[in-house]
Amino acid sequence: MIELVRGENLSKSYNIKLSLTKSIKVKAVEDVSLSIIKNEVFGLVGESGSGKSTLGRLMLYMERPDSGKIIFKGLDLSKAKGEEVRTARRKMQVVFQNPDLSLDPRMRIYDTLKEALECCKYKGDFKERMKTVMEDVGLSVDALSMFPHQLSGGMKQRVALARAILAEPEFIVLDEPTSALDVSVQAQILNLLIELRKKLNLTYLFISHNLSVVSYVSDRVGVMYLGKLLEIGECDEVFNEPLHPYTKLLISSVPTLYMAKKFFAQNHSGVAENGDENVSGCRFFKRCPYAKDICKSKEPELKGDKHMVACHFA
Ligand code: SF4
Repeated sequence: MIELVRGENLSKSYNIKLSLTKSIKVKAVEDVSLSIIKNEVFGLVGESGSGKSTLGRLMLYMERPDSGKIIFKGLDLSKAKGEEVRTARRKMQVVFQNPDLSLDPRMRIYDTLKEALECCKYKGDFKERMKTVMEDVGLSVDALSMFPHQLSGGMKQRVALARAILAEPEFIVLDEPTSALDVSVQAQILNLLIELRKKLNLTYLFISHNLSVVSYVSDRVGVMYLGKLLEIGECDEVFNEPLHPYTKLLISSVPTLYMAKKFFAQNHSGVAENGDENVSGCRFFKRCPYAKDICKSKEPELKGDKHMVACHFA
């Protein structure tokens, strides 16, 4: 197994202004290490505010970490020179949740793709490349002359995917790529992602709050809570035999709408309580039914071989 990208001890905080005079520091990601293997789909799950998207942007080096480093194909991006970073970044792309926000409504699809090819300094024939990627994502070349508003939601997300694969990337971060789509279209996009991964030899970091979607596409999965990874393992193993109490709660919330509603109602509307600067023990302490005294004072490390878990009693 060859490692493609690795984040080492990544931390990232933001200052959030509460009023003119008051602001708080929120730790979005804290001391997280993650290694992604070439050609795998690594799923990242967790509630809103758990730090999934921030970790995705850090892994892409779109955002610089406050501390820690990103190693892409053996290159430490924090030490690399400008052109080295730009070359590596061209091999790393992102697809966001809402194509309406990621596509310029005033630009025809042709111009959007042309701009992306210019950006990545593509040397080949632009029209040929566009034709190839449109075929790859299942769109007719006629769509090149259209504006985004003339396309359906699924077609727009296919355009966003086409733009991401234009530069022949190796690593793509998919940040909730199907959440804004109808259920029937979601399945088509998921199947397309699986096809593209095989055909183009891609590696994905797939971010979603939807466990069913993550379990459908992922080889391995990581569970995030309040800026930390609490569990990592093979997808089947984590979903069938979860070790961390938080993963168990997340999975138990899936079967019925009633259960999910009950779980989130008991646990702050499904939004992780971020910004608690005084966490000294386990982050899940306040919500954990198995918590003991040690959990309050000592933070559990993420331990294990293939199946890793951060809990004193897992
Ligand atoms: Fe629960 Fe303690 Fe494990 Fe944290 S360390 S998940 S509080 S049992």
